[in-house]
Amino acid sequence: MRIELGHDIRSRLRKALRQAGRREIGGMIFAEQLAPAHFRVMDFSLDAYSGSHAMFNRDPDVHRQALDDFFRRTGHDFTRFNYLGEWHSHPSFSARPSLDDIATMTDLVENGEDISFAVLMIVRLRFQLWMDCTFTTFARGVPTITSHIVRVFR
Ligand SMILES: [Zn+2]
Repeated sequence: MRIELGHDIRSRLRKALRQAGRREIGGMIFAEQLAPAHFRVMDFSLDAYSGSHAMFNRDPDVHRQALDDFFRRTGHDFTRFNYLGEWHSHPSFSARPSLDDIATMTDLVENGEDISFAVLMIVRLRFQLWMDCTFTTFARGVPTITSHIVRVFR
């Protein structure tokens, strides 16, 4: 699995993280499939999270709306442009997924109605200079794989 972040995505993410400060934020990520198992993240939605980061606030209406907007912008070309997964920030600890993160995402792909594959991206702004980033892939019936921490400069 290879996942890239477009340049504009990197700068938008950094800006959102700076504005959020120590507050956790997150949402969905959307990607273009460049080749089998090769994706480029090209958009993300941004929800303010309340309380514990373990609580992915998956309001179905909000998510459906973000997904519909993305499909409209990309011409309903689902095989090329689609939902890739979820993202959130860990402002004050490692960008590795927590046990709660893994449990929540596993539940999403094992029990979600229409999602059997999803990536969890976790980002953490470091000293305003770079982002630490991990990508964890979840697929129904398949062991979870977390990337090393990827350091993203501009
Ligand atoms: Zn987390």
